[in-house]
Amino acid sequence: MAKNSNQIGWYYNENNCIACRACEAGCKQEFDLPIGVRRRRVIIKEEGKYPNVKVRYISSACNHCEEPACLKACPVGAYTKESEFGAVLHNQGKCIGCKKCMAACPYGAPQFDEKKKKVDKCSLCYHRLKEGLPPACVRTCPGYALWHGKMSDIESGKACPDVYKRPLKDKLPGFADPKLTIPSVKFSENK
Ligand code: SF4
Ligand code: SF4
Repeated sequence: MAKNSNQIGWYYNENNCIACRACEAGCKQEFDLPIGVRRRRVIIKEEGKYPNVKVRYISSACNHCEEPACLKACPVGAYTKESEFGAVLHNQGKCIGCKKCMAACPYGAPQFDEKKKKVDKCSLCYHRLKEGLPPACVRTCPGYALWHGKMSDIESGKACPDVYKRPLKDKLPGFADPKLTIPSVKFSENK
């Protein structure tokens, strides 16, 4: 259970992802992101050996962790964790591009903008949440693989339809140990 009862997070249903990357495109369009900066990324992983090969699609972004390693690692205080939605926000104006947050984040979320020589990161679409709108990636996912909501609602099944909600997992294979930063994300695994 999240410490902050308002904490917003993700629910990702691996079964529904078709690796179309619409979530990535929706995010890039929302923020007019440059080439190379992927606040949301669809990671394609192969497991096993021929003929028993399994392909996984994992749509991944900042998990707006309860104990953000990025925030702890930043030497100039460019990161804050706000309390309204629990979003971990990055202030590019303060960022000196030292990449310490990139090294500290276990999920590869902070991205480096080569042109600006500064880090760039998912904001949980804070500006959209303020308007009562879903994050851009959630809005554009055609397969309903990606949802957002209060973590308490995701955990109790209120945030998404029954058909998608169980069994909930804290991680997928290859995902870092959630004990490291308490990420705000739950999964359903494609077995
Ligand atoms: S996922 Fe990484 S960048 Fe996002 S809050 Fe957690 S530690 Fe920070
Ligand atoms: S938009 Fe949805 S279905 Fe497409 S890649 Fe992203 S999570 Fe998967």
